[in-house]
Amino acid sequence: MAAIVEDGVIKDRAEQDIVDHAFDVVVRSVVDVIRSVTGSGKKDGGTAIGLGSPGNVDLASGTIRYSPNFGWHDAPLGAKLRESFDLPVYVGNDARCATLGEHTYGCGRGTANFVLLTLGTGIGGGIIAEGTLLIGNGAGAGEIGHHQVRATDGFYCNCGKIGCFEAQASGTGLLRHAIAVAPSFPRSELVSGKPEKLGSKAIRKAAEAGDVHALAAWNRYIDDLARGLANIIAFVNPEMIALGGGLSSAGDFMLHAVRPKVEELTTMSPRGQTKIVAAELGNDAGAIGAAVMAERGGLTTRERT
Ligand SMILES: [Zn+2]
Repeated sequence: MAAIVEDGVIKDRAEQDIVDHAFDVVVRSVVDVIRSVTGSGKKDGGTAIGLGSPGNVDLASGTIRYSPNFGWHDAPLGAKLRESFDLPVYVGNDARCATLGEHTYGCGRGTANFVLLTLGTGIGGGIIAEGTLLIGNGAGAGEIGHHQVRATDGFYCNCGKIGCFEAQASGTGLLRHAIAVAPSFPRSELVSGKPEKLGSKAIRKAAEAGDVHALAAWNRYIDDLARGLANIIAFVNPEMIALGGGLSSAGDFMLHAVRPKVEELTTMSPRGQTKIVAAELGNDAGAIGAAVMAERGGLTTRERT
């Protein structure tokens, strides 16, 4: 998605699905979709371009060092966009951009210690500690999706490890839980019915409706989600953890299930100090945060001076 953003409000937007993950093809569609909202690149007084991308990003150049989702290594995304637009270009990790968006204009407003998790096909994250967005030594701080919550009995993760938080507690994780427990429910139509149509949303809805197979998968999912959330609390003791991404549309059904389990697993940090809430900005958080990055001249919670 490309958007014109002004003070945290999306004024205009255009969307284009990315099917082919080849770098040159993606660059072309990114340029096209940006042009479709900006015209030549300067319409509406646009001052800078901010772009959130999956993967590890070299923030100075905007090069994607690696992206397991896209299979890229050292892909010069920033440089390619600078060739096409006569504007400053900033590239950051998509989930860190979303964190900046939720912190500046969404549910994290006014918090000093804030974590955003996007629960979608994968799990992205970002950490704000003492008012500062953590970047880390190689811009890898906030890769919460790749800490292991089931290192010996978990699912394989895209990153190559076993039992990463992302493998267990993303939408894909929920689907895998449903498949893993399927042998215990031979009469279930959840997986055997139309497996090609089975997605995390269908499983969640079936769980909400009381389907026993879906509920078994959902409970395992919630267990793994709670483990990850309790670990985050142990690492950074945040005031708020916001859950965004597709699965967060489960709302209270998810929050009411996960909160007591997180409490139980919170041992060394004071209990009851971290609000676990649904994020506010939905799919727009990334675009709004990328605009904040562009406005500030970098992926930072600090105002440009
Ligand atoms: Zn992983």
